[in-house]
Amino acid sequence: MNSRQRLPTPTPAPEHHGFAFKLLELLAIPTFVVDVRGKVILWNRACERLTGVPAYQVLGTAEHWRCFYDRARPTAADLLLQGRSADAPALFERWSLGGERGQSLCAENWCLLPRTGHRRYLAVDASPVQDSEGRMIAAIETVRDMTEEKQARQALEQLATRDALTGLANRRCFDETLHGEWQRAQRHQQPLSLLMVDVDNFKQYNDAYGHVGGDTCLQRIATAVASEMRANDLVARYGGEEFAVVLPNQALKGAAIVAERIRCRVEALQLPNLGTGKRVVTVSIGAATALPAPESLPAQLVATADAALYRAKHMGRNRISLPDDCTDQV
Ligand code: GH3
Ligand code: MG
Ligand code: MG
Repeated sequence: MNSRQRLPTPTPAPEHHGFAFKLLELLAIPTFVVDVRGKVILWNRACERLTGVPAYQVLGTAEHWRCFYDRARPTAADLLLQGRSADAPALFERWSLGGERGQSLCAENWCLLPRTGHRRYLAVDASPVQDSEGRMIAAIETVRDMTEEKQARQALEQLATRDALTGLANRRCFDETLHGEWQRAQRHQQPLSLLMVDVDNFKQYNDAYGHVGGDTCLQRIATAVASEMRANDLVARYGGEEFAVVLPNQALKGAAIVAERIRCRVEALQLPNLGTGKRVVTVSIGAATALPAPESLPAQLVATADAALYRAKHMGRNRISLPDDCTDQV
């Protein structure tokens, strides 16, 4: 026997195909295979358990998307088969190309599994199945249920970016957002406005109603301030009884209008503040606007708004104040 005769047969015998299919069917990882016509040729038991759809209902059909989504759309395996990996960003929350030559697609998405009604965060890996000449003859997709990991990640993100008392963005998130908006305003040559909102005589409020009462008051003010925001605005708890509002693409005139609306809204809450001789809880607000120049820093905007807030306090509180020199304001 020469060496040529000892080489293994390149194409496995049909019974080997059957054995491989049997293994995939028993695999604990939800797996399905779609052929070049887009028809499902394997739907394993783990996939049945995850989706609640038995294999006999999906095999031979191109309806596998129905097992994951309530609206018609391609799965990762379909994208590979159709040569449409470039559409992944529009269809998945996260995605990347994998495999040695980037021919596999890894993607993640929330799915409301229609049959079970469960909302699961699924991570999928789709890879091409090639014949001995390298032609794609099918795509195999494995599915991992990452719901718990995703929820843990979201909880961590929440902890890192949200203020626990008010649910607003925290100081860290404010700093990052202001920095990002500053750069964006620079790029687009747009104004960026900032409001610093401080509760008046809050020390006396605490003295009169206790710290728990003070906390409830801060929560109600936070909700009132947040209710005045547009989708792209950010309201954050800057610290203690102070809030900061970032208003992208807003000139000083518009910022002053928002500030006055916030002031009125808080006053209208009619939260009694008996400790001060004033009747209700009020806020003072300092506003500032900048057209960010390349060498300027967002800290300058904070300092200008802070100085305006300081003046509002000195002028008697429960009022808004604009920068001293508004001439260079947009
Ligand atoms: P002003 O009008 O000048 O702003 O007076 P103020 O009393 O509001 O300012 P001051 O800085 O003297 O006091 C702020 C108070 O806010 C003191 C602090 O105990 C209270 N405070 C800060 N954070 C919290 C909080 O999370 N919960 C409660 N209940 N009180 C807080
Ligand atoms: Mg205060
Ligand atoms: Mg304060």
